[in-house]
Amino acid sequence: MTARQPGNVVIVGTGATGYTAAKVLRAEGFTGTVTLIGSEQEATYRRPAVSKELLLGTKSVDQVLLGAAIDDVDVRSGVTATAITDSAVLLDEGDPVPYDALLLATGSRARQLDLPGSAHAFTLRSAADVAPLHADILRTGSLLVIGGGLIGCEAAAAARSLGAEVTVLEAASAPLNRIAPAAISQMYRDLHADNGIIMHTDVAVTSLEKQDDGTVVAAAQDGRSWCAGTVLVSAGSVPNIELAAEFGLHTGAGILVDEAMRTSATGIYAAGDVAEVPNPILGGTYRSEHWNGAVDQGTRAARSILNLEVGDLDVPWGWSTQHGVNLQFAGWTDVDDEYIVVRGSIDSRRFTACAVRGDTLVGAIGVGFPKDIRQIRTLIASGDPIDRDLLGEDWLDQPHAVVR
Ligand SMILES: Cc1cc2nc3c(=O)[nH]c(=O)nc-3n(C[C@H](O)[C@H](O)[C@H](O)COP(=O)(O)OP(=O)(O)OC[C@H]3O[C@@H](n4cnc5c(N)ncnc54)[C@H](O)[C@@H]3O)c2cc1C
Repeated sequence: MTARQPGNVVIVGTGATGYTAAKVLRAEGFTGTVTLIGSEQEATYRRPAVSKELLLGTKSVDQVLLGAAIDDVDVRSGVTATAITDSAVLLDEGDPVPYDALLLATGSRARQLDLPGSAHAFTLRSAADVAPLHADILRTGSLLVIGGGLIGCEAAAAARSLGAEVTVLEAASAPLNRIAPAAISQMYRDLHADNGIIMHTDVAVTSLEKQDDGTVVAAAQDGRSWCAGTVLVSAGSVPNIELAAEFGLHTGAGILVDEAMRTSATGIYAAGDVAEVPNPILGGTYRSEHWNGAVDQGTRAARSILNLEVGDLDVPWGWSTQHGVNLQFAGWTDVDDEYIVVRGSIDSRRFTACAVRGDTLVGAIGVGFPKDIRQIRTLIASGDPIDRDLLGEDWLDQPHAVVR
């Protein structure tokens, strides 16, 4: 260990980011103490499984653990950090834990809707949310999902596989509209319809009301209403920035960090879903909110704490599995971006499309060609302008350096 390394690292958050950081600290030979503090009871698991295998009931938490216990790490599960000072983390139980370096990997929580009757709805973020929702879906046989984003659509697909009647209500004019252009949203509408899911868009739900028979009625602003035995609100997530903000760290949409995951206070780092990182290609900042970003940033935070080289930030990418169709997407896309299909066709549900802004490649989305998405990430990372006339299979098949 060099003199520039801390003796005592504390990590708040036992998700993918915190776990990865602890693992990398030890893998890099760090010999000081590592304390990993997390509110959840479970050992670190693969959160993407929550709305897929865990909700379906095809796997248990033990079957989706991220990895084995890390040697010589003091893991405090079921313990919540209530405040930070410039030298210690305060807990809801036990003594404050002193630190030389602190990593905030507190992730996000499910957004609650501020509606009358919202207490009648479930939310889905953690393994602990799964069992009550799963049991209720089986008991009532019908699910109303409020929110047609990735997690809402995945939960709808899982519930349908469990045999429930499923309806999805989306406030925007199309499902998945944060990551997909109209043609791909439509493909997903059709995919869900083919699997017996009813979807309504442009629905502003204003209240939830429990009936005498135990069902819940969701009323919309335009007078329509829907009734189901179980209601799930899936309306996005809220980053857990409170510890940072109360201590006075700079925050925006997340905890503001530089490319080495350093916050505005020396010795305090943030990474993963909670961090707002600089966009090295397009400028500005963003929050990753995807699994690979959590693993990449957890690694970077640990290396940064140890004063090791961190390299360039990864071009973000994520995936979603619905009705057996695996969608992959990458980059930093906007609703106004132009999408050009470069392989396959959206109708066939096997395609790769590039998102283009002027002559800048900003993102990719596709089904069935994961290698294409890796290639396009490499090209996005280069920041080179593209010639849109060349976009096509030949262009994709050229030998480009493959990113991680
Ligand atoms: C249902 C679901 C499905 C998903 N599916 C996909 C997918 O298919 N593909 C994909 O790319 N991404 C997916 N994601 C996103 C991905 O899982 C996240 O980006 C990733 O897990 C973020 O990891 P994290 O460690 O930064 O945060 P989190 O996983 O949110 O972990 C943060 C941890 O910190 C704990 N914590 C917070 N505050 C405190 C405190 N004060 N004290 C102690 N502990 C605290 C929390 O309890 C939590 O355990 C999904 C997310 C969800 C919720």
